[in-house]
Amino acid sequence: MPKEYRLLLSYTDAKDSHAIDTYISLGGYESLRKALFDMSPQDIIEEVKKSKLRGRGGAGFPTGLKWDFVPKDHPGPKYVVCNADEGEPGTFKDREILYKAPHLLIEGMIIAGKAIGANEGYIYLRYEYIWIFQRLKDAIKEAYNKGFLGKNILGSGFDFDLYVYLGAGAYICGEETALLDSLEGKRGLPRLKPPYPAQFGLYGKPTVVNNVETLATVPIIINKGGEWYSSLGTEESTGTRLLAVSGAIKKPGVYEFELGSITLRELIEYCGGMKEGSEFLGVIPGGISAPILKEEDLDTPITMEDIAKKGSMLGSGAIMVLDRSVKILSLIRRTSEFFAFESCGKCTPCRDGTAWMTRILVDVEKRGFMTEEDVDMINSIVNEIKGKCFCALGEAAQMSVGAFVNKYKDELITNKVKRP
Ligand code: SF4
Repeated sequence: MPKEYRLLLSYTDAKDSHAIDTYISLGGYESLRKALFDMSPQDIIEEVKKSKLRGRGGAGFPTGLKWDFVPKDHPGPKYVVCNADEGEPGTFKDREILYKAPHLLIEGMIIAGKAIGANEGYIYLRYEYIWIFQRLKDAIKEAYNKGFLGKNILGSGFDFDLYVYLGAGAYICGEETALLDSLEGKRGLPRLKPPYPAQFGLYGKPTVVNNVETLATVPIIINKGGEWYSSLGTEESTGTRLLAVSGAIKKPGVYEFELGSITLRELIEYCGGMKEGSEFLGVIPGGISAPILKEEDLDTPITMEDIAKKGSMLGSGAIMVLDRSVKILSLIRRTSEFFAFESCGKCTPCRDGTAWMTRILVDVEKRGFMTEEDVDMINSIVNEIKGKCFCALGEAAQMSVGAFVNKYKDELITNKVKRP
């Protein structure tokens, strides 16, 4: 049985792991010293590029490349923004870092600031994590008191201020440009890209937006080196990954594994196996946006590329194991309803498509079965949404609902009659 590789999570194991003294006793803020005194901004970017770290929020974009896109000669302010809006259903791995190891994130953000030439950073925290808000504010205060934040950090001449901002509770604000609008005090709506945030971000200034886990990995990369980090995992999915595992398993929780070291089946076994008396139905490997996988896919190694080959995605690292106690029709209707509710309404395929899918699925659920005609109707809406949306929410809705309907079609169609 593969073993966990607790790289980030090792910072959450100690008593009072959230406190700055505990973090320092574990070697915390040493990477910041190295970045401030021994490395140029481009050295830091090159190290992160060497690590081949890819964003841990869902899209998997190479972090070093994203940082390198920020104009070096921009005369005005630049920003580092942490996307802590962890709103993807089933995902709860970033909160582990935010609550138990906030200084790992803070250190990562200051290093990111030095790398791109930003003197200000914001943590955009999802409203539902209001109970973590004070903890983050306390951690930031501790970092100021120790001289890791503020003017002339540790005498290096580099300034960095950090703020935490509480969102209002909208799934769409996990989309980086909607997040930036929300941070500016506007209604959170996705912006047209390009321009990307690296050129036109917060207040129209160059900005990097990175997920919590991504930024929290940066101090480790600076400490141990990009090459060391890239020696973990696979060629396309380097390093470790936090996995939030939930559902019909005996030991749900947040685990950390070297990418590619474990398959979905082994992960279920590692989590104690299926709950007593439960029968496996399927596994959603990357939050509700990721198409469901079935029994025949369980031997897939957990990497971005292997899960993509199966037609799904590792996304936010939320692995939901479903058993036969789940009513599939209710699950599909609730998934569609979620996307319809959270759709910002900016573009027609998503706004109308998710609403129509939901209407059909509410009807189907009441009836208790699907007909061929329902399946065709859902597939026709899926095709109207696919590739025509302004942002990833609409795409996620069609991928997820389409996969449920088509993969369980045979058992959902119990009466092959015309739609009443
Ligand atoms: Fe809004 Fe949906 Fe269009 Fe995204 S895809 S912009 S959430 S309506």
